[in-house]
Amino acid sequence: MMSENIRVRFAPSPTGPLHIGGVRTALFNYFFAKKHGGTFVLRIEDTDQNRYVEGAEDYIKNALDWCNIPFDEGPGKEGGFGPYRQSERKDLYQNFADQLIKNGHAYYAFDTPETLDFHRKDHEAKGKTFIYNWHNRLKLSNSLSLTAEEVQKKLDAEAPYVIRFKSPQDRELVLNDAVRGEIRIDSNILDDKILFKSDGMPTYHLANIVDDHLMQITHVIRGEEWLPSLALHHLLYEAFGWQKPVFAHLPLILKPTGKGKLSKRDADKGGFPIFPLSWETSKGYREAGYFPEAVVNFLAFLGWNPGTEQELFALDELTSAFSLERVNKSGARFDPEKTRWYNQQWLQRKSDAELAELFESVLSDKGFSSTEQDVGYVTTVVSLIKERASFVQDFWDLADFFFEAPTSYPEKAVKKQWKEDTPNILGKVGELLAGLDDFSTSHIEKTVKDWIGNQELSFGKVMPPLRLVIVGDMKGPDLFVIMELLGKEECVNRIHWAIQVL
Ligand code: GLU
Repeated sequence: MMSENIRVRFAPSPTGPLHIGGVRTALFNYFFAKKHGGTFVLRIEDTDQNRYVEGAEDYIKNALDWCNIPFDEGPGKEGGFGPYRQSERKDLYQNFADQLIKNGHAYYAFDTPETLDFHRKDHEAKGKTFIYNWHNRLKLSNSLSLTAEEVQKKLDAEAPYVIRFKSPQDRELVLNDAVRGEIRIDSNILDDKILFKSDGMPTYHLANIVDDHLMQITHVIRGEEWLPSLALHHLLYEAFGWQKPVFAHLPLILKPTGKGKLSKRDADKGGFPIFPLSWETSKGYREAGYFPEAVVNFLAFLGWNPGTEQELFALDELTSAFSLERVNKSGARFDPEKTRWYNQQWLQRKSDAELAELFESVLSDKGFSSTEQDVGYVTTVVSLIKERASFVQDFWDLADFFFEAPTSYPEKAVKKQWKEDTPNILGKVGELLAGLDDFSTSHIEKTVKDWIGNQELSFGKVMPPLRLVIVGDMKGPDLFVIMELLGKEECVNRIHWAIQVL
């Protein structure tokens, strides 16, 4: 495989934003290409103009950029196999459809939508499904049932037609999939799929096969929802006499309950994003505060595993660890809790400086000026609280007291910590602190602890209420560390203010 020039493609239709399942398909293609020194192609499958959505192509490109998986060839990045938008390749498909008609693998069909509708409804009423294929095609209106003259007359009169693939009768097809192994299909169940429409546009099946061939795609890695098309694609390669690529169908991504395919509705209900980037009113993973490293990491584990206990993988590590052999057949359950865990893990891996920069933009949104957000100070704060955070947005709740004095105290904590003698005790602690010249963590700690010992007080009488007045809550890292960072004056003020209001 290494000697072959590996070429894979991600071939989305620009019908809306990418679902994370689509991002996973792109990722697996990217891993495979990069692992084998191959080429990752982006092809936009926009033959269905009715479903075309403005902005979707840009969205797809931005999503790949954000995930850090740039394509090597695609719209705007010529690589000798373009154009990469099917709408710009429109003129080349007709010849291929004609070629199939000439060699007897396809035929013109003139059935009107009304006739087909009639048959569909008629079958439905009898509890059956209407399939257009070998068992009824001679009773329908097409170039197999009509004489050559009749067909020519219709074509000359520009009667609307489609071109259908002539599915073979009584054949057992043996298909191969890199993930699922051998799949056997009885050709009698296949319908004669439309390859070309009278509006001059190919359908997905024809355009997809022709382009994969012309773009010299060696491996088709795509979602399981395309598995039902595999038999037709296999037959099309055969009909053209072209070498087939290797096919690999990735397992479905399942709902958090494990039953059924994950949908946008599940995401809305469960309060988690389904798109990598925001789209209209739906918040994306990026906007929800996820790091691209975390998204890439959790998506990689939806349907693949490295076969070891290791769960945290950077993009380049995934690339070298990836193999199609380790892609699972069975559906991968989506676990929103686990996605948050991945983000928490990736957050811990970020440097304090990088996180401080992100936090500073939160602080300026809250109206703090740049002097209040002294870089060194913010970086130290971040280093103290990040352990408890899964997202940068968690920082404010964990660290607000480093930036503003408490204005209220939770009732429950006050009830528990604020006893009759507390104002008196804390007043004395305030005096003690005010007298310190050295306001370093270790010095404050020693002074306060010695004083507690001398007064024969318990720690519980002093430390918890002290935390309550300094922090405004019972949370936060080591209190003496907090005090040093806040500085003497601020600590003394907070104590005095609390004594007044509580
Ligand atoms: N255009 C198809 C899609 O939207 C491509 C399927 C394939 O990869 O063959 O997913």
